[in-house]
Amino acid sequence: MFWIKRAFLVARLAVVLAVYSPVVAQEIPVGGEPEQVAVADFEGAGAKLAGCAAGSVNDRSVAASLGLDADRVLYLTFDDGPLGRYTSKILDVLAKHEIKATFFVVGTMIEGQEAVVRREIAEGHTVGNHQWEHQYAASRDQQREFLRKTKEQIQSMSCDMPLYFRYPYGHKGPWQDAVVKSEGYGDGGIGWDIDSLDYDFGPGKGKAERPGMFRDDFESWVVQQAEEVGGGLVLMHDIQQITADHLDSILTKLKARGFRFGQLPRTVRR
Ligand SMILES: [Zn+2]
Repeated sequence: MFWIKRAFLVARLAVVLAVYSPVVAQEIPVGGEPEQVAVADFEGAGAKLAGCAAGSVNDRSVAASLGLDADRVLYLTFDDGPLGRYTSKILDVLAKHEIKATFFVVGTMIEGQEAVVRREIAEGHTVGNHQWEHQYAASRDQQREFLRKTKEQIQSMSCDMPLYFRYPYGHKGPWQDAVVKSEGYGDGGIGWDIDSLDYDFGPGKGKAERPGMFRDDFESWVVQQAEEVGGGLVLMHDIQQITADHLDSILTKLKARGFRFGQLPRTVRR
């Protein structure tokens, strides 16, 4: 039986490595990215995230404590950046539409791209904490370290402590909420209501569940999801070229359908 168990462990390790290996974002040159960015999969890997603690869950809910009006109001969130000109292009589009969004930044992504984060802050957007590393924290100490290092980075550029935290993959263990709340994020992890699935469009993609008619139609998928859900937090990624390229058109379509855009509360409510 031993060899069976060993084979299982080897296979499990291979899955873990396969999930984490695409996280090479910091190797991408800023301002001169290739058309196809190699980091794209790491949010999408959430559904098959391996190696988590027993009892861990995909909890992507939005805390009721936020008290958001989600009746045809959308709250845009962009995760995993900053990433050079994609984030900058998204900021241009948001300025054009006069919409304030939330950027959940990854600590390891910020080095060398501080100017992009400063622009997010200067233009009135909210900068949230998406951990230091984009991975499941293996212990309470590592969770604290991931939170604090990114918080200090953000604070070095803004004075304000980030008010919001989002778990990578929306995935957390049973002990994590207590750590997150004790570090000052009283709402816990901020999930989402509408998943743009932006990481899952393009050649070789289309793995996430959605009707076939939306397999290759990113804009229609986002608009359809907004209509179906009716409002709330929208998950997008500013490391995705498809989001940078289509955001202007998507926002125009959503506005034409009567959607409004809100911003997460910018003061501590507790
Ligand atoms: Zn993420």
